[in-house]
Amino acid sequence: MSRSTFLPFSVPGIDAEDIQAVVEVLKSGWITTGPRTAAFEKAIADYVGAPYACALSSGTAGWHCVALALGLKPGDEVIMPSMTWVSDANVVELLGAKPVFVDVDRATMLAPAAAVEAAVTPRTRAILPVHFAGAPVDMDAYRTLAEKHGLVLVEDAAHAIGTEYKGKKVGAQGTAIFSFHPIKNVTTAEGGVVVCHDEKLYEAVKRLKFHGIAKDAWDRYSKKGAGTVLEVVEPGLKYNMPDLLAALGLTQFAKLGRYNARRAELAARYDRLFAEIPEILPLAAPAWPHAHAHHLYVVRVDSPRLTRDAFVAGLKERNVGTGIHFKAVHLHAYYRRSGRFPPGSLPETEWCSERLCSLPLFPAMTEADQDDVVAAVREVLAQAGRN
Ligand SMILES: *Cc1c(COP(=O)(O)O)cnc(C)c1O
Repeated sequence: MSRSTFLPFSVPGIDAEDIQAVVEVLKSGWITTGPRTAAFEKAIADYVGAPYACALSSGTAGWHCVALALGLKPGDEVIMPSMTWVSDANVVELLGAKPVFVDVDRATMLAPAAAVEAAVTPRTRAILPVHFAGAPVDMDAYRTLAEKHGLVLVEDAAHAIGTEYKGKKVGAQGTAIFSFHPIKNVTTAEGGVVVCHDEKLYEAVKRLKFHGIAKDAWDRYSKKGAGTVLEVVEPGLKYNMPDLLAALGLTQFAKLGRYNARRAELAARYDRLFAEIPEILPLAAPAWPHAHAHHLYVVRVDSPRLTRDAFVAGLKERNVGTGIHFKAVHLHAYYRRSGRFPPGSLPETEWCSERLCSLPLFPAMTEADQDDVVAAVREVLAQAGRN
């Protein structure tokens, strides 16, 4: 018996307090970037232990501004896993530089630092590790190799708000980019935050996200602001986060600990339930000490009897939603056309890319919902056996 209502793979945990906070901003007379955005930036900086945080319209916008600030240019290379969201590579392409994709470890779907080191060339400028699904990469190894080769390290922390590596929050030690898209652990509807320890980089990101002007509108128009005359010091973009969304971010962020704890409970329960189903392969936890943010519950469907797509369709018929995180970037049409990473070049990534899907995982999900997912998985696999 399948469930009667559709269970999406992710639902943002919005409550009355979140709604009230947004309504208050709407009534306040100031809805775009202002005091709430500044408070949200401070909350993130304090939480991760970084001196600087800059809020933007998305994580992608954050990476775009960081990449511009680094001066990425044609001929430069940026090493990243192909198992990530396409924005990581797109930004590099848009600046005329080249993403260089490395393979991931099949068990964790994290890129080993050794794979990154093997891909370093004289043109390498930066490394973009991805803390996949909420588990951290081996940051000590990444830092060692970045220092050895003189490379910039920027962490894609879109999945990793609350993730810890060896007792420190992701973002506590370098430049990291968080996303607050609705499927992420907490949300601002759309939004991102760049945290960093380098004041110059921070100032550059702050300028680039707002036309290349060093002051936010709030600084210019508010009573205690610096005045309405402004100066563009370089061409920039329009990527600021409005107060309307930052207010949501603040009330969401207050729930992060509770939400991540609930995600951890559900993930541990999935692990126990799937231990009995050999065709469902969840991710292994990395070997180094860490706290996992459990952003996604990714499994690989490894069965000679059915494809991932048939599996996903079977779950949908039974009212269970799934996500795909991710189709490997080098297998997308644009990146295939470049011919630089033909199919077959990243075998572990491709093995995962063909088999993976994300099962429902969000804080408001109940054990009964989870039992429905596992029952549907069992049914789909059993039915495939009979065909
Ligand atoms: C969500 C995500 C991003 C981009 O974040 P946006 O806020 O949607 O731009 C980048 N990398 C990864 C791995 C993501 O999952």
